[in-house]
Amino acid sequence: MKMIANFINGGAVASTGLRTGDVFNPSLGHVQARVELANGSLLDQAVANALAAQPAWASVNPQRRARVMFRFKEAIEANMNELAEMIALEHGKVIADAKGDIQRGLEVVEFMCGLPHLLKGEHTEGAGPGIDVYSLRQPLGVVAGITPFNFPAMIPLWMLAPAIACGNAFILKPSERNPSAPVRLAELALEAGLPKGILNVVHGDKEIVDAILDHPDIKAVSFVGSSDIAQYVYGRGAANGKRMQCMGGAKNHAIVMPDADLDQAVADIVGAAYGSAGERCMALPVVSPVGEATAVALRQKLVAAIGDLRVGVPTDPDAHYGPVVSAQHKARVEAYIQLAVDEGSELVVDGRGLTLQGHEEGYFLGPTLLDHVRPDMQSYRDEIFGPVLQILRASSFKEAISYPSSHAYGNGVAIFTRNGDAARQFASAVQVGMVGINVPIPVPVAYHSFGGWKRSGFGDLNQYGTDGVRFYTQVKTVTQRWPQGGSVIDQSFVIPTMS
Ligand code: NAD
Repeated sequence: MKMIANFINGGAVASTGLRTGDVFNPSLGHVQARVELANGSLLDQAVANALAAQPAWASVNPQRRARVMFRFKEAIEANMNELAEMIALEHGKVIADAKGDIQRGLEVVEFMCGLPHLLKGEHTEGAGPGIDVYSLRQPLGVVAGITPFNFPAMIPLWMLAPAIACGNAFILKPSERNPSAPVRLAELALEAGLPKGILNVVHGDKEIVDAILDHPDIKAVSFVGSSDIAQYVYGRGAANGKRMQCMGGAKNHAIVMPDADLDQAVADIVGAAYGSAGERCMALPVVSPVGEATAVALRQKLVAAIGDLRVGVPTDPDAHYGPVVSAQHKARVEAYIQLAVDEGSELVVDGRGLTLQGHEEGYFLGPTLLDHVRPDMQSYRDEIFGPVLQILRASSFKEAISYPSSHAYGNGVAIFTRNGDAARQFASAVQVGMVGINVPIPVPVAYHSFGGWKRSGFGDLNQYGTDGVRFYTQVKTVTQRWPQGGSVIDQSFVIPTMS
């Protein structure tokens, strides 16, 4: 059986005695590979190599580091099909979706091609007599990123591209459920000219995550995953003095106003609720129609659109989405559907019990639609992370805003309306980090930054964009004065003052 190894100092590391993890094919429901789970001493090896390599990389001028980013971007583009197949095979998302996963990460690499401009510091001439002040951004040293299963290319690239471009060495701990694409990305970075030791991949679960969080030579950790683990990782890393940014789970709402273009809204909501089997942190698993008439019309159109959805294997070009990631996750989603029914939701479309011919053991779930959901239901409060859409009816605009605003998660939200004033009020008032106006999945483009509020994000700096550069650099501020031809320097500027 194929064994996926750790990638340290520019190559796969042959190890003995490591624990291994199963890598499943979610379409077939069987183990297709094993992954070697790194331990503390392997992490020490990765960090030692990273520490040795980082100073030389940091001293490469920013323009040359940017050239590596250019070549890395080209290498990813040239290997897009291979990467997409790896993702589809281990994650289960359809090929077109897997390409989208890569493309959104690629755009962060593209943004990092402009690194010299992003790294420019600030300068004040004459801040005092003969005194100039300037600031510069320097890399932190060795930094790490821990990523979830649902975007095996995009989220590693969100982190590793700015970290490396800024002159750090990076340790990536990808999801152990789909480790192949992250390792391939590391190989491509090397082919693009990245020196050995600057990008390392260690596989594993809680054991290696804890080792990363406790390692004294790792200066910052970026995490994306579920909220309880994000909060734990944030707390443990911060207690060890590390810079931390930890993105968590989500329960995103779509508000549909009575004046919305319903056909467009339904097409967008169905794509955002069921695409990638609902396994996106920016999925739209809740829709809030405002007013009874909107609810009736919306539900009717949703049922019709759901009837047209095709669930299939990732290589089926006509499939809208594939299986969920694991048997446990399938059982968890099914349990939430049952809970929703037991709590009093109306099961309008039931996606349970779907089997695909030739793939009877695959982790497939049909689209599920629940109506008459209430805010006090646990099935509404929790993140389900599957192809399940819940209708939470609102009697007014004010009530519709209150649902996402008072929810524990605050990642993304969308409003569908033709009314600019309502949209503007909504964007201003809603207590959520990323807002879409007639845009269902408002993932910010690479030159803005990605981050949710409340339990969707711990830490103050967002992923990628200029925040990514801030996260992976530290500011140094220099105040300088030079001897001025023998004349006595005016001391009045000296702080604290002596007069
Ligand atoms: P997860 O929290 O189970 O795993 C994330 C990472 O943490 C993985 O690398 C995993 O190995 C590690 N991990 C797992 N258990 C751990 C433990 N007990 N201690 C320390 N580390 C542990 O998440 P997942 O199931 O891989 O991904 C889905 C979740 O990620 C969803 O909640 C989704 O909303 C969230 N997500 C959030 C964003 C965002 O940007 N906010 C983006 C994508 C996914």
